[in-house]
Amino acid sequence: MRIFLLLIFLSTVIPAFADTNAMLEEADSLRLADPKKAKQILDDLDRESLGIEEQYTYDYITIYISTFMEQNLGKTIKRYEAFIKRIPDSPAKVRAMTSLLGLSAYKGHWPRSFALVSELTSLMNRIDAHEVEPDAYNGLVLFYNEVEQPDMAISYAQKIFSHPAATSYHQCIALTEQAFNLAISEPAKISDDDFYDAIELCGAVPLPYYVAVNYNNLLDFLIDKQAYTEASLIVSEATKHVEAIDFKYLTASLLLIKAKLKVAASEPEQAKQYALQVLEADADKEYRESLISAYSILANIAAEQQQYEQAYEYEKKHRELSVSLYNQKVTKSLAIQEARFDLQAKESQIDLLDKKNQLLSTESKLVKEQISSMLLVIGLALLVVVMLLFWSYRARKTQKRLHYLASTDHLTGINNRGYFSEKSKAILTNAEKSESSVSLIFIDLDHFKTINDAYGHKVGDWVLVKVVESLKALTAAKGMQIGRVGGEEFGIILPDTDSIAAKDFAEQCRETIQKIDTFDTGSHFQVTASFGIADTGEAGYNLDNLFSAADLALYQSKKYGRNRVCCYQSDKIDL
Ligand code: GH3
Ligand code: MG
Ligand code: MG
Repeated sequence: MRIFLLLIFLSTVIPAFADTNAMLEEADSLRLADPKKAKQILDDLDRESLGIEEQYTYDYITIYISTFMEQNLGKTIKRYEAFIKRIPDSPAKVRAMTSLLGLSAYKGHWPRSFALVSELTSLMNRIDAHEVEPDAYNGLVLFYNEVEQPDMAISYAQKIFSHPAATSYHQCIALTEQAFNLAISEPAKISDDDFYDAIELCGAVPLPYYVAVNYNNLLDFLIDKQAYTEASLIVSEATKHVEAIDFKYLTASLLLIKAKLKVAASEPEQAKQYALQVLEADADKEYRESLISAYSILANIAAEQQQYEQAYEYEKKHRELSVSLYNQKVTKSLAIQEARFDLQAKESQIDLLDKKNQLLSTESKLVKEQISSMLLVIGLALLVVVMLLFWSYRARKTQKRLHYLASTDHLTGINNRGYFSEKSKAILTNAEKSESSVSLIFIDLDHFKTINDAYGHKVGDWVLVKVVESLKALTAAKGMQIGRVGGEEFGIILPDTDSIAAKDFAEQCRETIQKIDTFDTGSHFQVTASFGIADTGEAGYNLDNLFSAADLALYQSKKYGRNRVCCYQSDKIDL
């Protein structure tokens, strides 16, 4: 009994099953070429009589057809999303994701599109998707064209050309996209034949939608080349294919092509009619590129016909749409960038989670290292500061040392002749302004050669140092300057002092020198010096004159017996 029933079941179900599968396949093959017919077949089919995989295919074809029947992309997208959520991993899911990718990209849902690319490629790795791989590759070609990554698009197209499961259906799409892409990016590399190859292949499948697309693309290519005659010859053929499809985008772009050809043929009335039809065909303003060109044509024609108000209105629309398209393009490329980064971030987040524990353990180590490296940095900075301070201190010290060497007599430590002259000049300049007296005292040790000869050069040096010490003790804190102006000759410049006061001071000096005790030299001898004085009252404020006058007075001291003070007076030397 049971066997009998099973036989009955098989005899009724199996042929029906085979029949429904054939119907499903037919609907599948017609889904693009003739969606209406495909829908009819599906309606005639009892979905529940299909196997589970076939049911998925049935549902997929149903959604696919709705793209054309309803022409409401948002609704179709929602259906695909619900579908791929509902069904398990399967070839139908690969196909649905591929179609959804195309629509998402078309609608500018970039984050979703990039996520879909990632989900789709990972799904293909999970299951044996050999049979549907070319479908997915097709989707990826279209997607990468849309996001302006032609290299990726071409690489997936190449995969299709060499894929054993790729049918002429897949190759038609790959050829179409490749020709379209090259016509824009490298028109020199492409000819009419490339479009005709695609038309022929797509026509043989048959894929009338792609035949129509290729006609439109070919016409655009020819118009860009200004091959209007050639283009005009194929317009009626193109119209036949485009009308058969009845797809808003194709209709609008073919009408625009016709308008452009009429403009080129100088038939403005007909051009205008076609351009107006473009506006009608896309009342929802979904395909702005065609509308922008249509408004531009209408504005030009109106202007030529001197309908300026009309021309202005069309031009305004043209501008508005151009700006909005431009903004959309900018937004699109930014959104594409953002979506790409987001996806990368998400993918690397998984890696990050894996590495988090590892990171946590190294974190404390890192903090410690950071602290020690910070201390190192601070230490280095301090070192640099200290070095800079030290360097500037050294520099200042060197400066001082150089100045000392340049200005000081190394034996006695007082100003040398050059520096003494400089200082004297400065004092004289100031004194001249205030008309105050300055005196110069010249001192020359007596018979110094004899001291050297008798007690040696070192003792001579000792004497020089001792003389300076005693003079310094006297000149300190009186604003006087003392310098060594020769071997055993010294000068003292005395501001605010005339020769009378200078003479008193010189006497003190003479007596002090005379009192030098030479006991420390191991010898006993007398040290004396002769003095010559000149003041500005007699010699004026010129240093050379003052020097000469003091020198003359000194000569007088020597002449009159040494160990004495003489003053210069213009008429005589005062003894
Ligand atoms: P007068 O009283 O006429 O000035 O006799 P004087 O010997 O001092 O005269 P003179 O100018 O002929 O001699 C100066 C000597 O001073 C000659 C030189 O050897 C000596 N002399 C110059 N510079 C130095 C020095 O730095 N050290 C020593 N020890 N002797 C010096
Ligand atoms: Mg001398
Ligand atoms: Mg001397």
